Amino acid sequence: MKLEQKFKQTLKKIKLNKKEKILVALSGGKDSTVVAYLLKKFGYNIEGFHIDLGMGKYSEKCLGSVKKLCDNLKIKLHLYDIKKEMGSSMCYIRAKVQHEKKGLKNCAICGVIKKWIMNREARKLKVSKIATGHNLDDEVQTFLLNIFKGSPELSANSGAITQNIKNKKFITRIKPLFYVDENDIRSYAKKMKLPVVYEKCPCALDSYRIQVRKFVDSLTTKQKENIIKNFYKLLPKIQKLKPEGNLYYCEKCGEPSRKKICKMCELVKN
Ligand code: SF4
Ligand SMILES: [Zn+2]
Repeated sequence: MKLEQKFKQTLKKIKLNKKEKILVALSGGKDSTVVAYLLKKFGYNIEGFHIDLGMGKYSEKCLGSVKKLCDNLKIKLHLYDIKKEMGSSMCYIRAKVQHEKKGLKNCAICGVIKKWIMNREARKLKVSKIATGHNLDDEVQTFLLNIFKGSPELSANSGAITQNIKNKKFITRIKPLFYVDENDIRSYAKKMKLPVVYEKCPCALDSYRIQVRKFVDSLTTKQKENIIKNFYKLLPKIQKLKPEGNLYYCEKCGEPSRKKICKMCELVKN
């Protein structure tokens, strides 16, 4: 099935409304760029959001691509400069965390911080949903990693739309490329000549994920789709492993959290 059809089908499945305001989390990479391009093409009400992580030349290139895309699509771009807002670049924040919590992977820290920022800013902008560029390969990798690590319950809220999270401060996240193979996204972005940074993030150093990524890369699209089908079959059981979907509020920052102190405040102590 063609990429655009799969994309449309996913939007239908998650019942996305053309009137609601959607914030697209733009990294400058191919996946989120294709998400914004297609949502706009199909008439959805979108605005862009980019976090400038302050990681040297790489971040500069990403910012350049995102600005170009938003100009081309004529959509509003909201920028969050981590150096200005949090006082230092992601590299510095991460190194500080890793000094205290040895063994924590770069992406685990960066991911928690980015999600925290995104939820907070999206709420301020009064959008109804956040769209991200996660693709079939990402989802297969994460599902397998969680199983290999013996924590399948970490996949309990996954899906093309976040599941079972009822909290008025939590902004629903959608993944319109959930069923699309990464190779097809790359070809599509190139064919459409979209402004994309193709080089990998210089800080993506999670050896376990890289190992799983290599394995997933060796699979056919059909095999990847089968893993996701099985994920959905197992989902009801996986969800039973996780306590109720209700979230509370972090005692420090007030953001939605499963514990008294959210993951962000646990990592980054002010
Ligand atoms: S690849 Fe990892 S370190 Fe780089 S931006 Fe993404 S989450 Fe952050
Ligand atoms: Zn907090």
